[in-house]
Amino acid sequence: MTHEKALQTIAASNGVAADSAYGAAAPPIYLSSTFAFKGFERPGGHEYTRTSNPTRDLLADTLAKLEGGAGAVTLSSGMAAINLLLDPMERDDLVIAPHDCYSGVQRLLSAHAAKGHFKVEFVDQSDAEAVATALGRNPKLLMIETPSNPLMRVVDIRAFCEAAKKVGAKVAVDNTFLSPALQRPIPLGADFVVHSMTKFLNGHSDVVGGAVICASESDAEEMRGWANITGVTGSPFDSYLTLRGLRTLFPRLERQQRTAETIALFLQQHPSVEAVHYPGLVSHPSHALAKAQQAGFGAMLSFEVAGGIAAVRRLVESVRIFTLAESLGGVESLIAHPATMTHASMAPEARAAAGIKDNLLRLSVGLEHEGDLVSDLAQALKAPA
Ligand code: PLP
Repeated sequence: MTHEKALQTIAASNGVAADSAYGAAAPPIYLSSTFAFKGFERPGGHEYTRTSNPTRDLLADTLAKLEGGAGAVTLSSGMAAINLLLDPMERDDLVIAPHDCYSGVQRLLSAHAAKGHFKVEFVDQSDAEAVATALGRNPKLLMIETPSNPLMRVVDIRAFCEAAKKVGAKVAVDNTFLSPALQRPIPLGADFVVHSMTKFLNGHSDVVGGAVICASESDAEEMRGWANITGVTGSPFDSYLTLRGLRTLFPRLERQQRTAETIALFLQQHPSVEAVHYPGLVSHPSHALAKAQQAGFGAMLSFEVAGGIAAVRRLVESVRIFTLAESLGGVESLIAHPATMTHASMAPEARAAAGIKDNLLRLSVGLEHEGDLVSDLAQALKAPA
């Protein structure tokens, strides 16, 4: 009987002790930019690192297995991964994206559309009628971000994929916020999963990277081709570090999400907090969907603080363990103010339409002791005016 390996085992051990030269347990790092031919017209397994590299390929293979895809490409950033999905688009092709997607993605799509590379429509994906209308325009690609950044809105991946398939659209899911440890869009029907590997996959805030994982081998082949043409593949050293981080993805997330839940419950009952956005709370509008679709609620949450921008300033300048910084998914806890940081490039009207208020703060919960993190927020929320 064949036994399918648990995902946690794949993360911890894919490629371990497979070194044919010395039997190294940890897969070696191959920094070489080029590889010797075996003879005239006889290339070895690799020729040139932009095209393929053993260290980067092992990372891609591990990700493809974790996401249940046929193949994966790993890139120099999450934005490079999203741009790679867009490389095959033609002038009249339509791309649909959430109106509250990560602002860098919104900026990228808008810049392409302004140049006439393809058409873009931003849609409130919590509005089923708006999504159905947009799909009626025969898009080439439907992009989904769930849970969304920073409001933690959750959409039904399986239902979206079924609806998109009916109109011949491919579906790409940004799985950055949960990782395959907590959500696997490909078995739910997605054609592509994209990641900013900068976040939970690497998990140590010391690499910027991205990945596209494809459900079909033909899409994987096309993505590999575009990555080679445009030269956006990730470096071997970054790939090595990311694979090292990926080894502990499951235990990290398990611990981080437990602490996130404790923090969400603490904030929910705090008199200076007006709203908490965390899918693990029973009060979250998509709690039931998140529970069914995800293997956990994740380590990201956001909340609205009473007292407007003055209270925001006081809080972010009073925290001692949380660091005021962009990005997320590392072992250290971060606090960010979307309106002036991660989502500052969005027009204020677009931010307002997406529901990103000026008193919204986003937390990425790390591996510090949960008691210390709760105390830190408690003292910062009490900081005198
Ligand atoms: N997707 C999401 C959901 C993100 O939060 C980010 C970055 O914050 C990106 C994509 C872009 O990734 P990167 O910063 O690695 O280019």
